[in-house]
Amino acid sequence: MISVKHIHKSYGKLHVLKDVSLNVDQGEVVVIIGPSGSGKSTLLRCMNYLEQIQEGSIEIEGKPIGLIQKNGKLVEMPQKELDMIRAEVGMVFQNFNLFPHVSVLENVMMAPMSVKRTKREETEQLARELLRKVGLAEKADMYPDQLSGGQKQRVAIARALAMKPKVMLFDEPTSALDPELVGEVLAVMKQLAAEGMTMVVVTHEMGFAREVADRVVVMDGGTLIEDGAPEKIFSAPDQPRTQAFLSKVL
Ligand code: ATP
Ligand code: MG
Repeated sequence: MISVKHIHKSYGKLHVLKDVSLNVDQGEVVVIIGPSGSGKSTLLRCMNYLEQIQEGSIEIEGKPIGLIQKNGKLVEMPQKELDMIRAEVGMVFQNFNLFPHVSVLENVMMAPMSVKRTKREETEQLARELLRKVGLAEKADMYPDQLSGGQKQRVAIARALAMKPKVMLFDEPTSALDPELVGEVLAVMKQLAAEGMTMVVVTHEMGFAREVADRVVVMDGGTLIEDGAPEKIFSAPDQPRTQAFLSKVL
């Protein structure tokens, strides 16, 4: 489903991703953990090409995203093609990023209507269905400001799902929430995972990782240092750096 091969990413002189490779299969839930600054968000953002890479390749369902081979050289793909592939990759951020000036319902309807040109009526039906799915059917006409953080994040998830993505990327979706609101967002994510959604999740919620992840990937200093089943990573990690990180967060 997602195939990241030997990618390198630098911000100026700062080499942030160093030869990172990662495969995510259809229906798999991969949780990425690791210290602050290790490159987790950057890796996620590269996966839908919100960030350019300098080397390596990323494929979504066998189709390259971002850089493509042309006449033996790596070049940026045309924006239109990029948008089409990106539509298949949903992303949920720490800070919700909802549009403040439109209703919850409009927030969910906006992307499919503008990117896929779907009709208002069918899009509204889909949006209402998705709001029901995340437990917010009755909030459709509210504005983002009138919602709690947990509710906002569930709207953000519904909004991403409205594009019918093949994979969902989550970057610390619960980190900005009050502790009592974390559970409702994780519950929605857990349900998505149970329905077979392919998911890549950066999180510090080790309980979620243990329970929901098929694989846990550990990043440190811009490289993937360990990749395995949650039971293995949490109880008997191979790398001393994984042990050191886990001893701080568990
Ligand atoms: P955290 O757990 O704190 O979110 P992270 O693992 O997600 O950390 P990244 O945000 O990917 O880490 O950052 C990796 C490195 O890249 C850090 O050193 C960071 O300062 C740097 N970095 C991230 N974004 C940029 C940017 N837009 N410009 C320059 N440097 C950046
Ligand atoms: Mg981050």
